[in-house]
Amino acid sequence: MTETAAALVERLTAVVPDFPKPGVLFRDVTPVFSDAVAFGRVCEALAAPFAVGAGFDAVAGIEARGFALAGGIAAQHQVGVLTVRKAGKLPGEVLSEQYALEYGEAELELRPGQLPAGTRVLVVDDVLATGGTGAATITLLERAGYQAVGFAALLELDGLNGRERLEPRLPVTTLGAV
Ligand code: AMP
Repeated sequence: MTETAAALVERLTAVVPDFPKPGVLFRDVTPVFSDAVAFGRVCEALAAPFAVGAGFDAVAGIEARGFALAGGIAAQHQVGVLTVRKAGKLPGEVLSEQYALEYGEAELELRPGQLPAGTRVLVVDDVLATGGTGAATITLLERAGYQAVGFAALLELDGLNGRERLEPRLPVTTLGAV
């Protein structure tokens, strides 16, 4: 029987206690990327709910594991990629968005003017936790004039309300909750 994308994510994701700091249960999805069948299948599954109707014209990947997923989905759907990067990595004019982490602050950046205003963008990342990273990304895309039409991640973490935070703004799909 064909293994579903959700089953592949569950089987291949490594659970690493106390990484990158004590108390964090880190979900390492990189084995999903290195398995050719799994990678293709998860890219298909992440984009499928958003490929109906008006669909999407571009995929925004959030640094760094979102980049791999964005590239895979974009190649399957023959659209381009926008890279949403951590602060200080992009040259030239950038839009910046700061957001709160559990401890401290983070900042994401996007180069404006890469695609026409109104471009319909699907946002992808590996894990949805509190939704702060996703929310900041959606805000950046909107500030650049794009329409964020969906958020897709391999896994969502139960109890952190990331989905509740993002769903008022756009539809959310994940391949599993842990
Ligand atoms: P958040 O902004 O709280 O939704 O956190 C999501 C971002 O942090 C994603 O880019 C994930 O890569 C990363 N992240 C948060 N928690 C975890 C975790 N337990 N395992 C792996 N990545 C995580």
